[in-house]
Amino acid sequence: MKFIDLNAQYRQYQTHIDEAIKAVLSHGQFINGPELRELEKQLATYTGATHALGCSSGTTALQIALMALGIQPGDEVITTPFSFFATAEVILLLGATPVYVDIDPATYMLDPSQLEQAITPKTKAIMPVSLYGQLYDFETINAIAAKHGIPVIEDAAQSFGARRGKARSCSVATIACTSFFPSKPLGCYGDGGACFTNDDALADRMRKIIDHGQSARYQHDIIGLNARLDTLQAAILLEKLARFDAEIASRQQVAVWYAEKLCEQVTTPQIPVGSQSVFAQYTIEVDHRTKMSEFLKDKGIPTAVHYPKGLHQQPASQLETQGHFPATEAAANRVLSLPFHPFMREADVAQVAEGIAAWFAR
Ligand SMILES: *Cc1c(COP(=O)(O)O)cnc(C)c1O
Repeated sequence: MKFIDLNAQYRQYQTHIDEAIKAVLSHGQFINGPELRELEKQLATYTGATHALGCSSGTTALQIALMALGIQPGDEVITTPFSFFATAEVILLLGATPVYVDIDPATYMLDPSQLEQAITPKTKAIMPVSLYGQLYDFETINAIAAKHGIPVIEDAAQSFGARRGKARSCSVATIACTSFFPSKPLGCYGDGGACFTNDDALADRMRKIIDHGQSARYQHDIIGLNARLDTLQAAILLEKLARFDAEIASRQQVAVWYAEKLCEQVTTPQIPVGSQSVFAQYTIEVDHRTKMSEFLKDKGIPTAVHYPKGLHQQPASQLETQGHFPATEAAANRVLSLPFHPFMREADVAQVAEGIAAWFAR
């Protein structure tokens, strides 16, 4: 059994994807080709954001967002300590300080009730992470941010396609940043990402940052990056985006099977009524996580831990940040992600559930 089966997806779409790749190889516009502009149009339509800009990864998307907002050394950026390292890495890279707010243990995302007390005159952005495929509590967090006049950056690397009521991930923050890393809900065949905004001036600034700060060829208005999304990846993403809603529907079905079949000792993901998770991870909570994952591995069932430590506990950021985040540390010791992808069959889910039941019955 595979944790995520990218080959199964490729087999299904192979003729379309191969054609799309061949078309790029034929026209030869590998950088800033027509597929990239078409993808950006479709990403904007899909999410409801006014502007979508392809870029080279989810990590650079976050860096571009912080640069566009003018984040500098000495600034504070509020975020969650329970995320992939990139979330804190880009803040630290720009010389700013990540200020962590602990998670709500029910959602694993930044706890809005603890947000306001973390805001200081140095707070220049709030960066919630839409973790495991759910959209962050944007109503509450955006309202607090607006009251203080602070922009919000959604780290939407795991949540492209997620909904909370009618609102879609990537359309509700000042800037949203997603990743097309192969194993993300919408993945390409290499590295890729995108930035989203409804603000024309920020979109203009981000487009320049993505391409060396250029407004025209060899006219460098600001300091930027080489952070473009390849045309080949854009062409692959166009084919995958066309089939993405069907994949989301399959993901809902797989989650229903898990909820039906997993034994009662397991804490399964809680999705608020009216919300749609894209289940970037299907993450349960259990006692004795490490021993259980070894037991499952022996039965041929792969698992993963997202994430084994809080960001404040990582050696690379420890010098910069202080504090103790009990909900994050508790989750980091207990979470376990199960195999999950849209091409899983009911029998696969049953096999995982039986393996877990056998652990509890041993
Ligand atoms: C994957 C991920 C990133 C980084 O995306 P890359 O495309 O791998 O650079 C950032 N934040 C979160 C929450 C992620 O899961």
